[in-house]
Amino acid sequence: MKKSQKYLSTLVPFICLLILVFTIYFGYMLFFGHRKLSFLEDVESNNYASITHYAIYGIHLNIQGNINIDDEVNDMKLILSNGKKELELPFIYTNNGSNYTFKTSHYINEGIVLDNLPKGEYYLLIKVNNKKYYSVQNKTTYENLEYYTITNNKKNNKINIEWNTYDECPTLRFSIKEEKLPSDVYDITLDPGHDAVDPGMTVCYDGKSVIPIHSNSCSSGELIKESDLNLVVSLKLKELLERDGYKVSITRDDYQDEVDVYAPMGSATMANDTHSKLNLAIHHNSLGATVNNDYLGFEIYIANDTETTFAESLLNNLKKSANAYPSHKEKYAIIPGIYQRYFSEEEIGSEEYYWNTSMIYYYNIREVGGISTHAAQDGIGRPEYPKNEHYLSNNTAEPYLLELGYMDNLNDLKNIMDNPLGYAEGIKNAINEYLKAL
Ligand SMILES: [Zn+2]
Repeated sequence: MKKSQKYLSTLVPFICLLILVFTIYFGYMLFFGHRKLSFLEDVESNNYASITHYAIYGIHLNIQGNINIDDEVNDMKLILSNGKKELELPFIYTNNGSNYTFKTSHYINEGIVLDNLPKGEYYLLIKVNNKKYYSVQNKTTYENLEYYTITNNKKNNKINIEWNTYDECPTLRFSIKEEKLPSDVYDITLDPGHDAVDPGMTVCYDGKSVIPIHSNSCSSGELIKESDLNLVVSLKLKELLERDGYKVSITRDDYQDEVDVYAPMGSATMANDTHSKLNLAIHHNSLGATVNNDYLGFEIYIANDTETTFAESLLNNLKKSANAYPSHKEKYAIIPGIYQRYFSEEEIGSEEYYWNTSMIYYYNIREVGGISTHAAQDGIGRPEYPKNEHYLSNNTAEPYLLELGYMDNLNDLKNIMDNPLGYAEGIKNAINEYLKAL
């Protein structure tokens, strides 16, 4: 064998191997890399749906938008597609001629249940007449979203919702994969109302009678502070929720703690600082100076445009576990025991506040929900007050305010003092019904 032949016999297999490797690599990229998105080539070009609003609120994503379609529309769906599988999403639409407006729900706490989305990579599309597909473009000032699902058997999925383009086609991509919960992400935030500085309502209680007082001295019986009752129930609730596997943050866990409302990890900010899905403010009610035994029972305050499944579950479970009754106060009631209180014209007055009559009165609901609950710039309404860093957020917790009973009503106070665990259990069971039924 000549020297050159020997050289060639080594080189040829090497070149062949190199060609094979390149063929496999490029073949794979061409086939799989391309196939992964090729279904997007079937979407209509130069006509996209405009997304005008999208917000994560609790465990739900809500999307609103519009699209112009000249063809006759018999059927329109909102889907997530990966080219093989299509997931149909909640969708409501109306039209004015060829202009169609759509949303995923009328309620801020309904729409796409993020926790139910299966793992994988999907694109948001509108499917018309079962044959034409339209992609979506971002017409808001908001960008990508990130969400961690509620902890379930110590597991969480991470969902990235990202605006992108594919071949000049605007897209909204959902990537869902299992990922460990980061240390700063929680499931639920509890906010035991008031603190060591502001105790809320105070009463003197001797087991047979209750007297509202406005000082720190109680000559007959025991001095009961609202801040302490709120904390007793909240700490028990935290323990029960953690036993069921949830990761729970709390705005204070000591009777001596002082809490700032708008500072980082404050009572109006912690739920969003910790990316919690639910925020429960726990309080006890009072009529102030007048003891009126006609008033008793718990009151559940909810945000604007809220679907009441969870609130009703709280109501039923508090009845069952705490032997408590919904208040029969009628003002602001939607359902007996469930309330939606907006600012009134009188409360806004003539001053130039940010408040308006479409805003919820209670800051611990309004300021937690970001754009979904019309949070104000500073929460209080006056520019000199601290700013709520989350007031423009489109990724917030779903807030509730619970007034568990009237402290100046003997029956209520007795029930609360005798059975705080029953109240905690009722709330925990309602949370499980809402979140574990996903
Ligand atoms: Zn209170």
